[in-house]
Amino acid sequence: MARRRARTRIPFSLLILLLSACVLAGCAIPANGPDGWGDAALPRGPQVPPAPPAAAPSGGNLTVVFINVGQGDSTLLVGGNASVLVDAGKASAAREAVLLEISARNMSVLAAAVATHADADHIGGFPAVFSRINASSVWDSGLGKGTGAYSDYSLAAARLGVRYPKRGLSESFGDGFSLEVLNPTDPHQFPADDYNNNGIVLLARKGAYSFLLTADCEAECEDSLVQAGLGQNSTVLKVGHHGSKYSTGASFLAWVRPEYGVISVGQNSYNHPAPEALGRLSAAGVEVLRTDERGTIYATTDGKNGISWSSSR
Ligand SMILES: [Zn+2]
Repeated sequence: MARRRARTRIPFSLLILLLSACVLAGCAIPANGPDGWGDAALPRGPQVPPAPPAAAPSGGNLTVVFINVGQGDSTLLVGGNASVLVDAGKASAAREAVLLEISARNMSVLAAAVATHADADHIGGFPAVFSRINASSVWDSGLGKGTGAYSDYSLAAARLGVRYPKRGLSESFGDGFSLEVLNPTDPHQFPADDYNNNGIVLLARKGAYSFLLTADCEAECEDSLVQAGLGQNSTVLKVGHHGSKYSTGASFLAWVRPEYGVISVGQNSYNHPAPEALGRLSAAGVEVLRTDERGTIYATTDGKNGISWSSSR
C-alpha cells in the first residue's frame, strides 16, 4: 500500500560514514515560564558561555548517532553548528562509546544535554561526559531518584544549569535542526515514581524528516502522545524502552508510521527486545536496526533527499 509520505529510501549498509567535524554553538535557554519550561526542582548553576562560532559547519546535514552503549541509551544529534546529547548510557559506557563519539568531533560544548529520566542506563554516563565537555544546559525530567547514579548525575549537572522542559517547548539549534518536547506534561501526568512514562520524549526535525526519541516511554505515555496529536508520521522511531513488550503498541505504530525503528539494546535480563514488540514492528512494516547487532548506528539527512544509514562496531 502506498505510504502517505513520499520519500527516498536508502538501504542500510555497513559502510562507516565519515562524519563532518562540527563545532558547537550555545543554545539560549529561556528562564522558567509558561512557554514549555517547568518549575525548577534541582539547584540551578551558572550558565556556560556560548561556544565560539562554528569553524567547520556540517554542510547542512543532521546526523543522528545511536551510540552503542550496550543495555542503555545514548543518542547524539549533530547539525548545523550545534550538538545535543540525549542520554549518556551507563557510567562504564560513557567512558568508552559516548566519549569516543564526542572526541571524534571537534566539539567545544554541547548545546544541550538531555537526561530523559533518572535511570542509571540513561544518566550514569553524564558525569564522565561533563568532565570532558560542558553543556549549555541540562534538560531534566524533573523527577529525581535516591540512587548513587542520580546523585552523581545531579551534582555534575547542577553546575551547568538544569532546565525542565515540558510538552509544547520547541527549540531550534542554529540552522541545523529543531527539537520539540512531546513529554512530560506540566504538571507530570503520571505518578511521581513512574519515571518511564514521565520521561522526556523529543521529536527532532530536519526538513522533511523527523526522529521520534521516546526514551523508556511505555504504553501509557504512548497513548498520551497519540491523544495529544503528537509524533504522527515520524520517519524514524527510536523504539521505546529498549524494545520492551510494554512499549511500541500497535496503535502507537499506526499513528507514528515510522519507516525505521532503532532499538538501543545490549545484554540484559529483561528480555529486551521482546518478541512481542519485534512482532508489532514487523507487522507494521518497520525496518528495524539494533545496536546490539550493528554497533553504533548513524543516520544522516539533509532534510530533502532521504536518510543515509551506516554503522560501526
Ligand atoms: Zn532504559
